[in-house]
Amino acid sequence: MDTTFDAILIGAGHNALACALHLSAKGWKVGVFEQAAQPGGAVRSGEYTLPGFRHDWAAMNMSLFAGSQFFKAYGPALMARGLELAPTTHPFASVFPDGRWLGISTDPAQTRARIAAFSVTDAATWDKLVAAFPADANHLFALLGSPMKMRAFASIFWRIWRERGLSGAQDLGKFLLSSPRAWLEQTFASPHLRATLGAWGLHLDYAPDVAGGALFPYLEGMAGQAFGMVLAKGGAGRVTEALVAEIEARGGVVECSAPVARILHSGGTATGVELADGRKLVARKAVIAGVAPKGLMQLTGGTGDAGFDGAMQGFRHAPGTMMIHLAMDALPPWAAGTDLHRFAYVHLAPSLDQMARTYSQAQAGLLPNEPALVVGQATVVDPSRAPDGKHVLWLQVRMVPGTILGDAAGQIGATDWAEAAGPMAERALDILDRYAPGVRGHILGQRIVSPAELEADNPNLVGGDQICGSHHLSQHFIYRPVRGHTDGSTPIRNLHLTGAAVWPGAGTGAGPGWLLAQKLAGA
Ligand SMILES: Cc1cc2nc3c(=O)[nH]c(=O)nc-3n(C[C@H](O)[C@H](O)[C@H](O)COP(=O)(O)OP(=O)(O)OC[C@H]3O[C@@H](n4cnc5c(N)ncnc54)[C@H](O)[C@@H]3O)c2cc1C
Repeated sequence: MDTTFDAILIGAGHNALACALHLSAKGWKVGVFEQAAQPGGAVRSGEYTLPGFRHDWAAMNMSLFAGSQFFKAYGPALMARGLELAPTTHPFASVFPDGRWLGISTDPAQTRARIAAFSVTDAATWDKLVAAFPADANHLFALLGSPMKMRAFASIFWRIWRERGLSGAQDLGKFLLSSPRAWLEQTFASPHLRATLGAWGLHLDYAPDVAGGALFPYLEGMAGQAFGMVLAKGGAGRVTEALVAEIEARGGVVECSAPVARILHSGGTATGVELADGRKLVARKAVIAGVAPKGLMQLTGGTGDAGFDGAMQGFRHAPGTMMIHLAMDALPPWAAGTDLHRFAYVHLAPSLDQMARTYSQAQAGLLPNEPALVVGQATVVDPSRAPDGKHVLWLQVRMVPGTILGDAAGQIGATDWAEAAGPMAERALDILDRYAPGVRGHILGQRIVSPAELEADNPNLVGGDQICGSHHLSQHFIYRPVRGHTDGSTPIRNLHLTGAAVWPGAGTGAGPGWLLAQKLAGA
């Protein structure tokens, strides 16, 4: 086995794999070392309930990956390795306690009619936003896809200034600082539409009242309308399988069950890593750590730069997620109607107030009395994941505390996840049953994954934080993961950080890995 590489990557998350692939393509000899038995981190699939039922362990929505600059460059190579995309024109819907539902589909007339049933004014506003989206998206995607240097940030604002004047640039600035609630309440009259879009904030730790979160309900709404949603056929894990196959075909090494115990550095330069089994590996050009900031501190023993190390230790994580994987003999019998069987995601997050309450309970360490649920109906889009006529459901329980201090409903006494996971999952299924009466009768098998189990599986998900670090403004844009290091650089020469903790952050868009690979390889 080789012990010398140009680049050693720690962890086989999709960012590290994307980075490794680009470096391999540029002639670097890469070695990726992953502590888990399988590669992929949060982009993995398996038969977690019953044979023949294939579930996404974590990420299910691969739209960010399919729309990424990395995919533009390497999509054809990955498709040649067996990756197939499974798009849907019905990305998401929300269902409400009054028995109504609202969904976004790519057919503008369909979405418009659904919104108009709640508010004619909102339907007209939606039309205006949709018409303006292509021009606005240019600026926003340029911002989200660029290296986050002050100069790049300023040049994007300068372009907007030239195009739309000072007031246009200021309006964009105000929007980027707004909370989801501020923007949704200023823009739409219907509480149903506000909640339908506001639920997207929760995916990224943006509860309705958190400044800086307006971008996500807006982008997901507009992108859902314009592009729908994309899954990977056969499960998100197919992306990882294709990435690994392509890296190996180019001579790279991806080794699993190989935890990195230490990053070796001397005289301020990283020289390699030591694996938990004692093997020492040499990195000629770069050690790339796809780990959480606190993990970086453990592996290096500190970089020697007090400011950087303090910021890494103080990096804040979001509350956790609990996953429930279900093997089903039918889709949920939605009381609001079988139209909901067309949608990839159904959110059970009925109002901005309910989401705000849930978030503050989770932040305070309480199991929320009515968590928001994301019901992923993957087999609606990709029936290959279950036997004929059967289904898999992917239930995300948002949000729950990593460390339990109590129960907002005063019913669950347990404060460790090993005991609390069962009753909390029952609470989530009770909520699902309210909207889909009798749903439990369709469950053939289930697997509950608590935040503690998410973290045990992948140490980057601290406390079950699915985004590896809050995206609140103090840790976003020029502050992700810390000012001066948005490109993944560290005070140790040749040591780089990648993954969701680094700009542009979480999600399956491979941005941190792609930007770093381009920087290291000289594009
Ligand atoms: C439950 C859940 C649902 C999600 N849903 C979606 C979704 O639908 N769509 C979306 O876009 N995003 C989603 N996300 C977010 C997205 O999946 C993640 O932000 C993204 O996949 C993180 O990728 P990463 O490259 O940072 O690494 P990760 O996926 O976090 O992987 C890091 C890898 O490093 C390994 N590692 C850590 N330390 C070491 C070590 N010392 N030695 C060796 N290996 C190590 C870990 O085992 C892991 O495999 C979800 C996340 C979760 C958890």
